[in-house]
Amino acid sequence: MQVDGNVAGDDGNGRNGGNGSETPAAWARVKRRLRAELGEDVFASWFARLELEDVVEGTARLTVPTRFLKSWIESHYLDRVLTTFKAEIAEIARVEVGVRGTGAPAKAALPSAAKPSAASPLARLHAAPQPAPVAALAQSTPEARAEGGDLTGTPLDGRLTFTSFVVGRSNALAHAAAERVARHDGEGALYNPLYLHAGVGLGKTHLLHGIGHAAREAGRRVIYLTADRFMYGFVNALKTQNALAYKERLRGIDLLILDDVQFIQGKSIQAEFGHTINALIDAGRQVVVASDRPPADLEALDERVRSRLAGGLVVEIGNLDEQLRVSILTARLQSVRVSHPTFEVSPAVAAYVARAITANGRDLEGAVNRLLAHATLTGTAVTMETAETAIRDLVKNREPKRIKIEDIQKLVASRYNVSRSDILSERRTAAVVKPRQIAMYLSKVLTLRSLPEIGRRFGGRDHTTVLHAVRKIEKQIGEDAVLGDEVELLKRMLQD
Ligand code: ADP
Ligand code: MG
Repeated sequence: MQVDGNVAGDDGNGRNGGNGSETPAAWARVKRRLRAELGEDVFASWFARLELEDVVEGTARLTVPTRFLKSWIESHYLDRVLTTFKAEIAEIARVEVGVRGTGAPAKAALPSAAKPSAASPLARLHAAPQPAPVAALAQSTPEARAEGGDLTGTPLDGRLTFTSFVVGRSNALAHAAAERVARHDGEGALYNPLYLHAGVGLGKTHLLHGIGHAAREAGRRVIYLTADRFMYGFVNALKTQNALAYKERLRGIDLLILDDVQFIQGKSIQAEFGHTINALIDAGRQVVVASDRPPADLEALDERVRSRLAGGLVVEIGNLDEQLRVSILTARLQSVRVSHPTFEVSPAVAAYVARAITANGRDLEGAVNRLLAHATLTGTAVTMETAETAIRDLVKNREPKRIKIEDIQKLVASRYNVSRSDILSERRTAAVVKPRQIAMYLSKVLTLRSLPEIGRRFGGRDHTTVLHAVRKIEKQIGEDAVLGDEVELLKRMLQD
């Protein structure tokens, strides 16, 4: 970290690059002033890791460990730092901030994340990129690729069938509805659309593929599309002026399955999405949709489309209870043993893993992969102890901290030097509007609250105001890297 050799100061921060031995002492005084002027909080956040490398021809060269800190200090405090410097060393005319070293990942350098890492080298070893057998295991077996062409759907994964889907209390209704829709062979459609929603890893995609397989087996024409595939198809079709053919094609099927519709964006695509859904439903074709939120919370979509989506059967899949987790895990272990007959996991270990990993099916699958990797690589049986090490990082991350809107408001307020009541107030000065919009944006992306609820928590504002703020900040983040970094940092501080 040290650039020039002669460390003269005793505060551990000074680096004297040839401007006399009093520089380190002066630097220590600069830091003391900054601390006094800005307050302990701000100082600890932004300046604790600022170091003086040297002073060359009137330029004080400072360094910080991350690009983010550099841009933050440059955009918020450069004048302040220069003035403070000048007060101590008159001949300083400029201040430069650089990034030292490259080693540490940005997160480790964040002010609120400066705790020492608890992970042991062994745990890190296990958290390392997944080795080959695991990748092979996770591979899907697409069966529909042969159909080819942009107008076909995303291939179905051969593993994700009704047979491999474990039914429990939290998903029984969704499963029953999915089966009925898939096997329905009477006139018209049953529940149209069938709308499934749940958090990540709770089996939405699995059920959708299950519907696709079963309906195809029954001879029905099925297209399964992820949101991005749907958009891609339309964009392409619009570009090549094939939109009409594309629509015709979509309307000529019996069952349209759309996954992750929360990602559908773009004005014309949304309009096409709406038309397509309407046309299919009106023609008595079955539509099945999955999303991470209920229809009313699909803010990007037109109100009419939302209510159409809500007009069939809406089913939520709840969190996996422990019993269901054990069943899913056991089933998964069994299927792995088809290709790895020597892979043994005792019921006690399986029970432990199912108890430890509470988040979702994806993590359960990850755990099986880790255990398998462990067994294959070391050639030893999986004991309780090795299981514990293998899944440690999955366990640690299992429950993302629940973030409160109030905490978001407090943090953002303090960062922007306004009060929380300013944020909740009617005031419309720029100094208040920007932090308010950032706080609304963070509330949307970090909590599960709906827009109307967020509006209520921000002094009783309308949900359209919140939507406007969210869109605006999203756009600005895209255009302004410094703001992007700022918001990213706030996010991490809240998540820590
Ligand atoms: P989502 O689409 O809701 O994010 P997925 O359907 O991709 O979740 O599920 C994540 C993983 O968990 C998949 O490997 C899936 O097979 C598995 N999974 C989830 N729920 C079940 C279940 N009830 N039975 C068997 N596997 C499940
Ligand atoms: Mg999914």
